[in-house]
Amino acid sequence: MVRMLIRDVLYFTNNEGSFELGYAIVQDGKFVTLKPGTCDSPVYEFDDVIWGKGMLILPGFINTHGHAAMSLLRGYADDLPLQTWLSDYIWPAEETLTANDIAVGSQLAMMEMLETGTTCFTDMYFHMEEVAQTVVNSGMRAVLGSALLSTLPDSDEKLQAAVAFVKDFQGAGQGRIVTTMAPHSPYTCSPEYMKKIMGQAHKLNVMVQIHLSETRSENKEIKQQYGVSPTIFLRNSGLLSQRVLVAHAIYLDDQDIDILAHHDVHVAHNPGSNLKLGSGVAPVISMMARKMHVGLGTDGASSNNKLDMYEEMRLVALLHKGALEYPTAISASEALYMATEGGANALFLPKGFGTLEIGAPADFQLLDVSGPRYQPADRLLSHVVYASHAGDVRRVFVAGKELYRNGEFLTIDKQRITFEVNQIVRKFPQNKCRS
Ligand SMILES: [Zn+2]
Repeated sequence: MVRMLIRDVLYFTNNEGSFELGYAIVQDGKFVTLKPGTCDSPVYEFDDVIWGKGMLILPGFINTHGHAAMSLLRGYADDLPLQTWLSDYIWPAEETLTANDIAVGSQLAMMEMLETGTTCFTDMYFHMEEVAQTVVNSGMRAVLGSALLSTLPDSDEKLQAAVAFVKDFQGAGQGRIVTTMAPHSPYTCSPEYMKKIMGQAHKLNVMVQIHLSETRSENKEIKQQYGVSPTIFLRNSGLLSQRVLVAHAIYLDDQDIDILAHHDVHVAHNPGSNLKLGSGVAPVISMMARKMHVGLGTDGASSNNKLDMYEEMRLVALLHKGALEYPTAISASEALYMATEGGANALFLPKGFGTLEIGAPADFQLLDVSGPRYQPADRLLSHVVYASHAGDVRRVFVAGKELYRNGEFLTIDKQRITFEVNQIVRKFPQNKCRS
């Protein structure tokens, strides 16, 4: 039994931003106590004692959409429309990536996520076995699926490999890995292929993640090809019959939103990526009005270019106010919820994930709130969402194990990964990545 005490730490006691100074006890990777005041037990009863003075304990952030290895493509092709960006730059560069490159790129992403308070991330990419192995080694938590596209010549082999991946890695890393099926999008998966994928998803009883209605041109293309919206295309392909997480979901009409809500489809909202690619603004307020589960995601660093959930949290709170001329659209409390417990719900994780509740996995971060941007001190929730900086994250834990402390990565070799990243990018076409 491993016991850890975090003493003299601030924590929120409710969603409205009330907070207390108190202590937390973590035992065997789970929270067993979170209380105001001082712990009665003597410190020698604990394996580890952390002094939380000036710190706020928060659940680790849950990033509900991304492509970790695309951190290798950060800054490679900025300021372009999605289709040009993908077909002229990203896809040719991705063709050069080996399994090892993807493992390296994923670790680069994991370091960035850890130092900005994220403990669990979602990934849809290639060579997922290598990604999963790096997750196991890093100690992070992740929801992973091999990207499937019927446009690839070996799409049936890829589907078999995706099934094998689910079987091999579901629950790996002491339960820290959740596997999914991951058809890429309506515009890259034929209805027949989608049906094959869903047959496997049902058999394996796993969640399905997919991109949906990210651009206006996607909607136009699907309409031309199948005569319906991408959402109806998914429904007609049998995709909505399983637990489904859709990423982006920007170009939806009322009927689409009703269909998604009716099938309890969950959404990964990516405000930063959607803004950077000029994709548009997802109708998140309409989704929330229908009680849909909406989490926050960064998407890949190639289209964001950060994997910083503090930024997404602030953006989601600002974006919808501005877009709708509606200052109460998303409150600070709702934004923090979306980055934590709401993200866990969006990913269909068990109750307790994304919280500091007793019995919840001890996935948490300690944020230094002693600086000027957190004053006046009585408005902490507002400061965390609107004024914080991810650089104030001091320590990050997953299942009670410390993975990041004051600039040091305790499970990832930062120097080696940084060196390898800068070797890998040299082979990208047109040598657009110059250091
Ligand atoms: Zn994506």
